[in-house]
Amino acid sequence: CSKEEGRNNYQIYDDTMSQGTYQQLVIETDLRSAMENQEFKVFYQLQVDVDTCIPSGVEALVRWQHPERGLVPPNEFLSIAEEMGLIVDIDDWVLRTACEQIKKWNDAGNALQVSVNISRKQFERKEFVDIVKQVIRDTGINPEHLKLEITENIAIINIAAAVKKLQALKQLGVQFALDDFGTGYSSLSQLKNFPIDTLKIDQSFVKNSNGHDEDAVIVKLIIAMAKTLNLTVTCEGIETEAQLAVIREEGCNHAQGYLFSKPVPAEALERMLLCGV
Ligand code: C2E
Ligand code: MG
Ligand code: MG
Ligand code: MG
Repeated sequence: CSKEEGRNNYQIYDDTMSQGTYQQLVIETDLRSAMENQEFKVFYQLQVDVDTCIPSGVEALVRWQHPERGLVPPNEFLSIAEEMGLIVDIDDWVLRTACEQIKKWNDAGNALQVSVNISRKQFERKEFVDIVKQVIRDTGINPEHLKLEITENIAIINIAAAVKKLQALKQLGVQFALDDFGTGYSSLSQLKNFPIDTLKIDQSFVKNSNGHDEDAVIVKLIIAMAKTLNLTVTCEGIETEAQLAVIREEGCNHAQGYLFSKPVPAEALERMLLCGV
């Protein structure tokens, strides 16, 4: 059964089609109207300074407020959106929404830096740099309040082209973080030619680490390497005081995780900041 046939048709499920494929078709159909129906939402998750626990920024994370299924997390729809080519529209919208939020917070006296995830497809568009510049102009933000999170795989095909894009935006003051670091394929020698500001250590290393095992050694090595390269380090997935103690000991700069806050709507984040969390 082709995608074409399934487009407006929920009855195509038969024995030969796996439940997974059927689910995917349903999601695809719904995703097509989600943007138009304004069903996407941006949530924000706090990042704190590891030494002081003072808020240092937030990460913008997309959610899909589905009319029947409720709040759908990105892992359940972004890969499908990517196959459909819709990911670039979602990334465009999240970027603009996050920058409008930066402006609002800044006007209210909260100079929070906001990190926005950029998919590989979005980064590889030839108009990527112009899109970011345009959003910065339209929203009137200070570019230093914007940090873009990219992953190692953006540089697999053409590292020179990737570096050029990074440099064009860095000139404006936009910062870059390498997300999920440690899970990809980038060689360490490549990293030194890559003009980024921050390494985000993937949560899998922190989660499994009890402070003495191999994962803890990896975390330690990544932090040491980042220091050598003059990069700041953010650890994501910090859920316990014990994990916080380990990364503090190793000199990690910023932390993000359920210990501080889950991703929440902008208004909830504002309430947290007001209460001095
Ligand atoms: P990510 O960029 O690595 O974001 C961190 C993920 O870890 C988020 O999941 C966050 O909710 C989760 N997390 C943070 N702290 C903890 C913790 O202490 N424990 C646990 N168990 N999880 C924690 P989320 O929001 O479900 O997003 C998943 C992924 O979807 C993101 O991973 C990112 O790769 C992608 N994503 C989210 N929003 C966007 C977007 O607007 N554009 C693009 N291209 N990708 C996005
Ligand atoms: Mg991220
Ligand atoms: Mg990450
Ligand atoms: Mg991740």
